[in-house]
Amino acid sequence: MLLIKYSEIGVKGKNRYIFEDMLVKNIRSALKELSEETFVRKAQGRIYVECKEEETEEAISALTKVFGIAWICPLDHYGKLSFEEIAKAAVSHMESHFSMDEPHTFKVNCRRADKAFPMTSVEVNEQIGEVLLDRFPNLSVDVHDPEIMLHIEVRPYDVNFYSKQIEGLSGMPVGSSGKAMLLLSGGIDSPVAGYMVAKRGVSLDAVYFHAPPYTSERAKQKVVDLAKIISRYAGPIRLHVINFTEIQMKIYEICPHDELTIIMRRFMMRIAEHFAKETGCLGLVTGESIGQVASQTMQSMLVTNEVCTLPVYRPLCAFDKLDIVAISEKIDAYETSILPYEDCCTIFVAKHPVTKPRLEKIIASEHRLDSVIDEMMQRALESVEIIEI
Ligand code: ATP
Ligand code: MG
Repeated sequence: MLLIKYSEIGVKGKNRYIFEDMLVKNIRSALKELSEETFVRKAQGRIYVECKEEETEEAISALTKVFGIAWICPLDHYGKLSFEEIAKAAVSHMESHFSMDEPHTFKVNCRRADKAFPMTSVEVNEQIGEVLLDRFPNLSVDVHDPEIMLHIEVRPYDVNFYSKQIEGLSGMPVGSSGKAMLLLSGGIDSPVAGYMVAKRGVSLDAVYFHAPPYTSERAKQKVVDLAKIISRYAGPIRLHVINFTEIQMKIYEICPHDELTIIMRRFMMRIAEHFAKETGCLGLVTGESIGQVASQTMQSMLVTNEVCTLPVYRPLCAFDKLDIVAISEKIDAYETSILPYEDCCTIFVAKHPVTKPRLEKIIASEHRLDSVIDEMMQRALESVEIIEI
């Protein structure tokens, strides 16, 4: 039996049950590979997972990828117990979880939710402490910084013992905050951006701009693989693959080369927003970080942003590259992200892109596309291939 502790969703007042139910649903889905004797239940403001002993490790590993879980505590779980039975169970908990031949410091931490139980929690702490000290000569008490914190929960219908807490990812249950459209490239940043937003409870759709034959099938496969990695945390993702070649070539042909990236990004945003609205997304997400490259200066982002009516979330805007890489490694995306397949931005990039584009000038350059752009946009939208991840 595992006790699931959650942090932030505990403060959601009247809506709390919505968050809890979402978390239970996500936990069930994370554990669906386990045998049928796996049960997830919600009881008196907490969540328990029951699983077969031999599947405990697998369950814990799956639970450490579920947003909304702060701690996972493996429990010794009993029905109603008398004080003598609690003492026995405390001894057996210590024996089965720690090598009692070696010295350890400990502290007992009782929570008595059963007000009919004849002892206070302080009395339980003291008396169980004494029982353990008598039984195990290598134990000593440290109330400030114990190695072993033995938690005993005396509840109306059951008693729980635990002394290990495995840290979860925290955050909020995916699906509790609506859905957003992630602009997913094959790079390092956008998968991390998707992960960060999912951590706030947002479920994801994604869009990838593909430019065959300039970008290869392997570049596309890399994006599919990255989407799979994100979906371990964020749940199912509908990946929209858009053929962007024609638009990109046309921009390259008739717009000033130092403005290519900005104009291209404005069209990416327009197309992403089209599909975002179609699928009920409440915002767009990108991997941009202030000042990282020419197209990510504040002036550039102002100009890019101008075509969007939905909010654009840039969770990495204030992150340094090293911080982004650290998260990328943590979520196991890095090795895939650094595979060397070209993406459409690297191929069509100018030698000296503008770093401080002016909106009027960019709009004027875009007008050069007026006679063809509507049809090209139409064809790009129609080119969409949807991959369910
Ligand atoms: P990343 O590491 O995410 O590729 P980057 O540092 O390479 O980012 P840019 O190429 O300027 O930066 O792209 C900025 C953002 O625009 C990306 O984080 C991503 O959200 C989006 N983007 C760029 N190229 C594509 C693409 N081909 N398809 C979908 N989104 C893209
Ligand atoms: Mg990139």
